[in-house]
Amino acid sequence: QQDPRIARISSAIRVIPDFPKPGIMFHDITTLLLDTKAFKDTIDLFVERYRDKNISVVAGVEARGFIFGPPIALAIGAKFVPMRKPNKLPGEVISEEYSLEYGTDKMEMHVGAVEAGERALVIDDLIATGGTLCAAVKLLERVGVNVVECACVIELLGLKVNVLLEANLLEPFGASR
Ligand code: AMP
Repeated sequence: QQDPRIARISSAIRVIPDFPKPGIMFHDITTLLLDTKAFKDTIDLFVERYRDKNISVVAGVEARGFIFGPPIALAIGAKFVPMRKPNKLPGEVISEEYSLEYGTDKMEMHVGAVEAGERALVIDDLIATGGTLCAAVKLLERVGVNVVECACVIELLGLKVNVLLEANLLEPFGASR
């Protein structure tokens, strides 16, 4: 049975058709941030799921993983590590290229932000194909971090995501479908 908080979270997320281009159903989480109860419930659900999992790193994916990641990190006593778009982080970085619908992108993380053997949770607002989260997982695993789980507020069900789920690579947390 679904947690009753999920319905309210789901209805607080606005869907805008054809943004930023025709054919995309954009899931806008800024309306969730305006609903203080639904925003708190969102964070609480993640905290309840992850607080006893011995997680020392919450890695947030730019940009909306920077909204949900830090309150979760503070509540479970973990540090927050930003996974950024290229050329944003000032220190030495390691980077991972990944493919988008059209072309490629890159994700970067500061060297020294995490240590081998740490246990991490990866956070973003939404999973579509899973390409973004996979890049984050790869970056962390390259430096010896154990990624316990990836979590998102919204899951857009797609073939690739199911394949990843079956491979136990991702376990997104779908609050809105
Ligand atoms: P993907 O790598 O295909 O799983 O795409 C996930 C990333 O793209 C996340 O960082 C999302 O914020 C963003 N994204 C993809 N599709 C949408 C959508 N329909 N609405 C809002 N954000 C999206």
